[in-house]
Amino acid sequence: MEVRNTGAVAALAQQVGSRLDEALSEWAAVVGAEFVVCDPHIRQEAETATFATTQTVPAIVRPADRDELQQCMRIANQFRIPVYPVSSGKNWGYGSRVPARDASVIVDLSRMNRIVDFHEKLAYVTVEPGVTHTAGALLARLVKTLDRIWTGGGFAGRAPGVIGEIF
Ligand SMILES: Cc1cc2nc3c(=O)[nH]c(=O)nc-3n(C[C@H](O)[C@H](O)[C@H](O)COP(=O)(O)OP(=O)(O)OC[C@H]3O[C@@H](n4cnc5c(N)ncnc54)[C@H](O)[C@@H]3O)c2cc1C
Repeated sequence: MEVRNTGAVAALAQQVGSRLDEALSEWAAVVGAEFVVCDPHIRQEAETATFATTQTVPAIVRPADRDELQQCMRIANQFRIPVYPVSSGKNWGYGSRVPARDASVIVDLSRMNRIVDFHEKLAYVTVEPGVTHTAGALLARLVKTLDRIWTGGGFAGRAPGVIGEIF
């Protein structure tokens, strides 16, 4: 696979100077270095949609929970780094994971995949953004009331997220 050489890091560096490096270090301190992805092939996948795109992605940050996400957003704000959120990043046909703005760091929320709460009588669930329709369907099977309610997501498959579909 040929790696796009439009130089996402260079493009962003032009805008924010050395602040990207500092932000990457701070994000790594919050989420762990393995969850700050700068691998060029993975970045190129994130730059690829089902149609031609030109946007570049300098990095992907993957927080595990709300606290980490809040810290990541504070760092992005501090260093004025543009970010683009994805829930499960499977927005096939509508841009996939490709950010709307060039040189945006993707904040990938797919590790935040907990079903926080559900109310059986009123039939609602509180989910983190990484919860997919697979998990939603599983919950619907487990909870009698929800079993009578359509959880959506059937047309795009089970892998995309509940929250991403709402957006
Ligand atoms: C064949 C097909 C059929 C489909 N049919 C339907 C249908 O019948 N009904 C329907 O509603 N949809 C339909 N879709 C759309 C589909 O539901 C969405 O593509 C999918 O749910 C996206 O989920 P995701 O978690 O991958 O989203 P993501 O790619 O993670 O996000 C989608 C968008 O929402 C934004 N976003 C995601 N999470 C957040 C967040 N936490 N905060 C702020 N912004 C956020 C992202 O920036 C992105 O722009 C269909 C898609 C396909 C390919």
